[in-house]
Amino acid sequence: GQLVRPQQITVLGATGSIGLSTLDVLARHPQRYEVFALTGFSRLTELEALCLRHRPQFAVAADEATARELQLRLRLAGLKTEVLAGEAGLCAVAAHPDVDAVMAAIVGAAGLQPTLAAVRAGKRVLLANKEALVMSGALFMQAVREHNAVLLPIDSEHNAIFQSLPRDFGRGLSAVGVRRILLTASGGPFREMPVSALADVTPEQACKHPNWSMGRKISVDSASMMNKGLELIEACWLFDARPEQVEVVIHPQSVIHSLVDYVDGSVLAQLGNPDMRTPIAHALAWPERIDAGVSALDLFKIARLDFQAPDEQRFPCLRLARQAAEAGGSAPAMLNAANEMAVAAFLERRIRFTEIATIIEFVLNAEAVVSVEALQAVLRADSRARELAQGWLQQHGC
Ligand code: NAD
Ligand code: MG
Repeated sequence: GQLVRPQQITVLGATGSIGLSTLDVLARHPQRYEVFALTGFSRLTELEALCLRHRPQFAVAADEATARELQLRLRLAGLKTEVLAGEAGLCAVAAHPDVDAVMAAIVGAAGLQPTLAAVRAGKRVLLANKEALVMSGALFMQAVREHNAVLLPIDSEHNAIFQSLPRDFGRGLSAVGVRRILLTASGGPFREMPVSALADVTPEQACKHPNWSMGRKISVDSASMMNKGLELIEACWLFDARPEQVEVVIHPQSVIHSLVDYVDGSVLAQLGNPDMRTPIAHALAWPERIDAGVSALDLFKIARLDFQAPDEQRFPCLRLARQAAEAGGSAPAMLNAANEMAVAAFLERRIRFTEIATIIEFVLNAEAVVSVEALQAVLRADSRARELAQGWLQQHGC
């Protein structure tokens, strides 16, 4: 319905794939939403263009120098937008008292503190930045409860699970009659490639996803299936599930976005065209529904849906993530940091695709798992894993 005051939305990571899809949905509903703040990191000209188009109150650039540059350009264009810098700026626009909802769409560990700032300010938090939750799960969910934040998953699978669960799933999965969660995966671009050829794939091949167009880091994660591994951990935290309650199902068409299996034999699922604007619109408007600009699903055109079990031989990252999920404590943060280092090295052509898993396994085996109750401990595990991965790269002359 018509609202008195448009909701104020901060988009962290506005220049990225999820950020742009979010702005597309917001622009379809100008009476309902206003862009309060936009943040970017490396693409200053893109961020400037987004500011000119959406006229936010605040923008956040990577550092003081780029913030000054952007501030100057926006002033010259006659905008009143105030430009902030760095992590402090990100946290300020995430927690600002005038903000209603925060889209957390920064990629990787860099998004942790700003996302936590939004949670601690009790915002409606639209979580795309799965790495933040994987790193700090216990602490993150504790903060959600303490500050009455409303956490809505943007990851299409988790959004589908959320939609397929009853409203009171917080009582516990068994209390609401859930037997298992079925987490679907496309299998990425290398699903059918001979395993022996995986050592020679290029970053370009890895970034060419069959069904989704996404940022480079998550595209590599999809190709290695580490993305599904991170999503397994994400699902455990979001829905208070044990790792063995989450089963990964390869579904190459990406039409069923995930399913929930109930004790009476009912299986509920959410389907749709693979377009992130659907989960974004769902989370923005929840519990209402708004137009996302996504075309209606044409089942006749799709004609068939296929399913197969994942192959951990082909996708060792999935096995490593499950092990980290079971180990708990610092293991998921170490897994995530090692993966970020390895993926960056792969994208820079310093290592082979298959060495991503090698590095992660090395890092996980190098250190005993410790408990991570405070943010400091999470950050320590993250930097320790990066050091270990760096050591591996140096030792192998990469
Ligand atoms: P992207 O690379 O397209 O965009 C990343 C954004 O983060 C950009 O705005 C960039 O400027 C910003 N950023 C990068 N490093 C930063 C840093 N150090 N400090 C501050 N900002 C920084 O990535 P994406 O595909 O939009 O993914 C964003 C997040 O959403 C990831 O966590 C990803 O796993 C998740 N996600 C994405 C999709 C998708 O379809 N793209 C689907 C599900 C989940
Ligand atoms: Mg996903």
